[in-house]
Amino acid sequence: MSHQLFGNADSAITIKLDAIVANWRYIDSLSAPTTKTAAMLKANGYGLGSGAVATALAQAGCELFFVANLTEAIELRAVFCQTGDVNIKIIVLHGIQYGQESDFSAHRLVPVLNDLDQISCWRLFAAKTGKPLPALLHFDTGMTRLGLDTNQTNWLIHNRQALEGLELHYVMSHLVSGEVVDDPVNAQQLARFNEIRHWFSDTPASLANSAGTMLGKDYHFAMTRPGIALYGIHPCENLDSPLLSTFEWQARILQIRDAAAGDKVGYGGTHQLARDSTIATLGVGYADGYNRK
Ligand SMILES: *Cc1c(COP(=O)(O)O)cnc(C)c1O
Repeated sequence: MSHQLFGNADSAITIKLDAIVANWRYIDSLSAPTTKTAAMLKANGYGLGSGAVATALAQAGCELFFVANLTEAIELRAVFCQTGDVNIKIIVLHGIQYGQESDFSAHRLVPVLNDLDQISCWRLFAAKTGKPLPALLHFDTGMTRLGLDTNQTNWLIHNRQALEGLELHYVMSHLVSGEVVDDPVNAQQLARFNEIRHWFSDTPASLANSAGTMLGKDYHFAMTRPGIALYGIHPCENLDSPLLSTFEWQARILQIRDAAAGDKVGYGGTHQLARDSTIATLGVGYADGYNRK
């Protein structure tokens, strides 16, 4: 099972969906059977094509998909409407902004609520529609990016009525340095997350990104959220990585020619031949994915 991400007569990038599925299964096997393994599909599935990746992973049993924003979420919902996977949960990391409520509802999307404003926005809509609305709650434990900060967290703990009308599926946080196994920040974040979680003991929890899935059982909780590892890149740049490579780039050789020692090759004569050589020219350029840098 594969799909072509990009291709023309001379060059093609092929995504190996089987390898992505195998990587998902491997990461899933690191945690207990009771821990769900979600899939991170933000940024078009890390550039590999979110629709094809999502369809393959849903067939393998993945039920929880994260995207960055509303646009990605609506596109993904359309994919699952076509495949008939009605029970898939699509979770939006950026959360909800005023004006997006009816889109979230119509496409059955679950926002990650990152601050008190987002909580109010979704709760007001729940009150208006009169039905409970699903959400994840994101607490910042050290990233200082998205998520409720310490003040907002403390306020919410003592003002639980602010969550009325919301159906909390998970409380979550995000690791700063999971890929540095012995960084003390990991244990600090884990301790802080457990402190907060204590106040939401009825709600399942989620902390681990790819690197977190490899930090051991304490980090797994009820759901893990791997991204980069699904696509074959080991977060610790482990050379013995059990993860499979997930794409392949092939290009046609357009020309083979002889060149003499001292000849210069390419724009600006960037390379000078040290010896008489045979030169093969491939049919790829920057437009095909060759890195301009
Ligand atoms: C991107 C992201 C992930 C996945 O991270 P990887 O390092 O790619 O596994 C998990 N959780 C959140 C909140 C993210 O933004």
